[in-house]
Amino acid sequence: MEVKQMTKFNPFEVAQRQLDECARILNLDPDVHAILRVPMRELHVSLPVRMDDGSIKIFQGFRVQYNDARGPTKGGIRFHPDETIDTVRALAAWMTWKCSLLDLPLGGAKGGVICNPKEMSQAELERLSRAYIQAIHQFIGPDKDIPAPDVYTNPQIMAWMMDEYSKIAGKNQFGVITGKPIILGGSAGRGDATARGGICTLREAAKECGIDLKKATVAVQGYGNAGYYGAYLAKSLLGCKIVAVSDSKGGIFSKEGLDPEAVRKHKAKTGSVINFPNTKAISNGDLLELEVDILIPAALENVITEKNAPNIKAKIVAELANGPTTPEADDILYKNGVHVIPDFLCNAGGVTVSYFEMVQNFYMYFWDEKEVHQRLDRKMTTAYHSVLDASKKYNINMRQAAYVVAVERVAEAMKLRAWV
Ligand code: GLU
Repeated sequence: MEVKQMTKFNPFEVAQRQLDECARILNLDPDVHAILRVPMRELHVSLPVRMDDGSIKIFQGFRVQYNDARGPTKGGIRFHPDETIDTVRALAAWMTWKCSLLDLPLGGAKGGVICNPKEMSQAELERLSRAYIQAIHQFIGPDKDIPAPDVYTNPQIMAWMMDEYSKIAGKNQFGVITGKPIILGGSAGRGDATARGGICTLREAAKECGIDLKKATVAVQGYGNAGYYGAYLAKSLLGCKIVAVSDSKGGIFSKEGLDPEAVRKHKAKTGSVINFPNTKAISNGDLLELEVDILIPAALENVITEKNAPNIKAKIVAELANGPTTPEADDILYKNGVHVIPDFLCNAGGVTVSYFEMVQNFYMYFWDEKEVHQRLDRKMTTAYHSVLDASKKYNINMRQAAYVVAVERVAEAMKLRAWV
């Protein structure tokens, strides 16, 4: 029974089903389809790490390079206790579509290490980060495969990884990784880029749906980098009222609206958003079904399923998380007229500014924050409208439309390279 359930929500199977649907809509060449259904290359590594108590612990790590038809592969590294090779495969596939949809000259990849960073010291995390790079260094490089942060990894971890790669290369190689601290070749505007990009698509979606954002209520699931900045920018840039947020420990609700910055400080002090003063406790499940205008899933995969999709009352679902909605739930939301901004469109701001970071690293010349914001807005707005146009042209939902735009470009690159 348990195994069945796992299979049902295997993220890679979800990614393959989404691609199969796209292949049907596009009448995709079967050879192209077969190549795009599986990763081009994957590396599995065992990482022996000295723990603070003197013992050695072996961690399992992965790096999956999904497709590089359009350029070097790109994608984050996740540190998570529930990481699996299939999650990494799915995320690498989605990175391929994400980079293509944003028209970045990049392919898709993803990395992951099975570990629980919340239970590790900074010194242990540093040793693990360096061990991971030692194990995969031949596989990556500034013009080959460029990692970045993802769930539970951050600029400090990117700095350790860049340093380890540079030591192996015998010279500084800032361009091997993005999402670095600004002082080490990071880009201005990378910190909040995932959420800021999502906010651009939300602004466009609200115009399309006739929603006045200044009167709109928002619920955000997840309060990491994407969730916190999503809440903060929805309020500060768009004027929305944030009525609920959550993290892995639970959620909070306030009819009057929350101050995202105060909630962030509370979480930094106590380890969670829960028990924030003058709020009602709610579960992560309750949050998704709240009577709000905009729902922002910003945590993990498969949280909107056929079970709760019929109860979703939001008019717009802006997917800052990767893979939050199952294909069954997608059908239900579409039938119910919910406007979904699909993950690899909505959360593409992160990799877009990562690409800007790569460009600046190659140039050795850095842009100011305003320039990054303007360029990001142009990229996100163009991508949103290309998806909206395709959804109208083919009469398909926004996710299918995003697939159509992204897969067509990768397929064309493969054809021109005579891979098929
Ligand atoms: N991990 C982020 C994502 O899923 C960013 C990837 C990157 O910057 O390369 O899009």
